[in-house]
Formats: sequence, structure tokens, C-alpha cells
Amino acid sequence: MSRIKTARDLHFSPDDVRHAIRHAIFVRGHGGDIEQRLETVVARVNHGRWIADCPNCNAGIALHPEWDRARCFGCGAIYRNLTWPAHPRLIARVLRARVIRHQNWEPGETVADLIAENVAHAVVDLTVDETFEDGPTGDLVAEGG
Ligand SMILES: [Zn+2]
Repeated sequence: MSRIKTARDLHFSPDDVRHAIRHAIFVRGHGGDIEQRLETVVARVNHGRWIADCPNCNAGIALHPEWDRARCFGCGAIYRNLTWPAHPRLIARVLRARVIRHQNWEPGETVADLIAENVAHAVVDLTVDETFEDGPTGDLVAEGG
């Protein structure tokens, strides 16, 4: 199953400067202004992506847990007040077992809630660990077929 995507996957920029330049060019190219805003944006997972809703324009903002700011490509706003769950990687790990359209998490849902949903819907994660995905797949072939 696919992992949960972050701002890094969407904007291809692991460092803040290149992302800032890309953001400025995009926003100004669409007639907008870059604006630092004080509102807090709250991380959630929607269809396999870490995002937040822009408090200014309601567009989805891509987030990355290691980035200290979020940039809205809808209105140009930049936010530094970001709220993440305590264990984003654990949430992502549980959601990975699902198909992308069911990889959703909202603030307030616990990891136990997500695991219970996986069990209720008979979601089984066949991956053992990260390295297993890159290894041979011969073990997954059914016997006697
Ligand atoms: Zn916005």
C-alpha cells in the first residue's frame, strides 16, 4: 500500500528556500500577494495526504511534519502556527494499510480508533517493514495455484 504523502511529495522541495521561491512565483503569477498570517492550521489526512484547510481561503495546504511553515498555493498565505498530532508517523503507518480513498484521519481520532476501523473492515497490512517492500515478492505467491 502507498505511504501517506506530504508537502515534500507535492512540491518536490526538501528545503525551505526553493519551496518559498516556487510559492512566490506561483502566487504572484496568479495575481495574489504573499501574506504572513497568524491563524493556526491543523493537520489532517485526506485521501492519503497530510493537509490543512487554509483559514483564509479554505484551499487545501500540503504539510510536512519537518517543515516549520505551511504555504497556501490558493491565496498566498504563509502560516507558522501548525498543529500536528502527537504521533503522525504512527497514524500514517496504520492508514497505509488502506486503499488511498480510505486513508483519512481527523484531529481527535486516536490511533486505537484507526486500528479498530482497520480490524472492523478486515484491512490487513501485508508489509512487514519498510525494507520488505523493496525485497523479493516470491513469498507472496500462493502455493498450489
Ligand atoms: Zn489560502
